[in-house]
Amino acid sequence: MKLIDAGPTRRREMRFSGHPISPGIGIGPVYEAAEPVLNFQHKKIAAADIAAETARLEDAISLSRKQLIKLKTKLASLPAQSQTEIDPLIDAYLHMLGNSRLIRGARLRISDSLLAPEAAVMDEAETQAEAILALTGSDKVGRQRRAEEVREIARRVLRNLTRLPFRNFTELKPGTILAAESLRPADAALIQPTNFAGIITAEGGADGHTAVMLRALGLPAVLGATGVLEAARPGMLAIIDGEAGEIILNPTARSLAAAQAKLAARARSLRALARLQKAPAETTDHVAVDLQANLELPFEVPMIAESGAHGIGLLRSEFIFMNRETLPDEDTQTQIYRDIIEAMDGDPVTIRVLDWGSDKEVEALADYTPDTAEANPALGLRGIRLLLRHPDLFEAQLAAILRASVAGRVRIMLPMVGFRSEIIAAWEIYDRVWRRLKRRNVRMMETRPPLGIMIETPAAALSARHLAKHADFFAIGTNDLTMYTLAADRSLPVGSKLYDPLEPTILRLIYETVVAAAAAKIPVSLCGELASRPEATPLLFGLGIRQFSMHGLAVPRVKRAIRAVSSKYCLQLAARALEAPDADTVRALLAQT
Ligand code: PEP
Ligand code: MG
Repeated sequence: MKLIDAGPTRRREMRFSGHPISPGIGIGPVYEAAEPVLNFQHKKIAAADIAAETARLEDAISLSRKQLIKLKTKLASLPAQSQTEIDPLIDAYLHMLGNSRLIRGARLRISDSLLAPEAAVMDEAETQAEAILALTGSDKVGRQRRAEEVREIARRVLRNLTRLPFRNFTELKPGTILAAESLRPADAALIQPTNFAGIITAEGGADGHTAVMLRALGLPAVLGATGVLEAARPGMLAIIDGEAGEIILNPTARSLAAAQAKLAARARSLRALARLQKAPAETTDHVAVDLQANLELPFEVPMIAESGAHGIGLLRSEFIFMNRETLPDEDTQTQIYRDIIEAMDGDPVTIRVLDWGSDKEVEALADYTPDTAEANPALGLRGIRLLLRHPDLFEAQLAAILRASVAGRVRIMLPMVGFRSEIIAAWEIYDRVWRRLKRRNVRMMETRPPLGIMIETPAAALSARHLAKHADFFAIGTNDLTMYTLAADRSLPVGSKLYDPLEPTILRLIYETVVAAAAAKIPVSLCGELASRPEATPLLFGLGIRQFSMHGLAVPRVKRAIRAVSSKYCLQLAARALEAPDADTVRALLAQT
């Protein structure tokens, strides 16, 4: 949804809420990220293809309608005043996606002028927009708005006809609040954090991969704020509170002063937290925990040491493969891993092999993805399942990690394991690569780096005691574990209440995994987003977690949380939470801490 310049900025303050993604206050003018270059060819089609091409157009129209209807349903949760402003706009869009002049014209351009649907819809929209602008009369602003609406709806159809690679953020001025309907994880990876005051999107959930990437950027961000894009105008002043999940458009002087006071308070609290950097991470009765950092993007490396984390507990290697046209070869990968391992200066680094599939799209891997579209990509080929189908890719990554391992202490981790056979197959490949490099006298870490697995499917958690016989360590991924156990997408919008890692079901699976790891005497860590929530730290400790991995910025708060409680208290808390009937009861227990 493009921010439409409707003339003079309205003065009224408007408030929206969404998922609080990463704390901080951002104040600045709001602009939407430039649309990706609409890269379609002005193609002609053969007469024999008219039916098929028209069907493609109809599919894109029906997808566009679905997207808008979904948006309209979500609007119901907004204050009445905001609804009255936005509802008519969505209705106008939906009308244009019906049997409107735009759609009829586009269909005719396919059947009569033999134009491909992309060109048909864009040409028709342009003709109509120009006709609207050429009308005479006093309401010039209204005509401009209508013309832009026609173009906007055509762009939506076009976006649904062509899968566009990624967005371009370079045109936005520094200090801007970036607004977007949705961002893919690959889009987020392109954001240069120093250029923005904050990020808001209309779609996206709290633990989705985009949220994970944005947290890594450390920018105040609010995702899934329904209605905000429809209400915002380019350049409108906005305040975003990434901790409360609140967005204020056109703030009053009073709201602005309150935000500035919060900014100052936050700066004080960050200074206090920074003093904890060297303090031990231990309970009041001196039981120590390991706090490590998750790494999504290389620029985070210097922040890790500053945060007081010791090592990287989850290096999501996806970033190495994203936003490029060709795959990184073994040498390129080796260099990237090596640089990170060296920068960690002897602290351990756990590198997770490529976890792609589902919402983590990797353009360069388009030829590797399943031949048939999957109805439920999150339930299809993903993570280790895909790697085992493409041993060439898997072997190159393992070889690169092993070659880089000479620079420090490395562990290798497999994503999305669900079956024992997957670890066994992965070990065979790992053995082969290790032996090959040894034969060639390649220098590597002296002892072979441990090979462990993520526990992020209910299948893995429930069979942890069997899997433990084949894994050197476990890392619990609560994001996917929650999604798969509760059958609730991790990107669900605010208020859906379906996706909730504090459900006792999830706590029991964590506990089962810890018990299985202890019986097999292998280490277990927790690296899902739950690890970065200080309110959950005593509970996780009580469930037996002693190693936490989280985005670097969360480390000081989690450290403060662990230093405030005794291990006895944590054990009692966990025992009660495991018996709790639902997540609200668990939350109430946590609130008593
Ligand atoms: C998880 O699922 O909890 C996890 C850490 O992996 P990712 O978020 O990368 O899917
Ligand atoms: Mg995962």
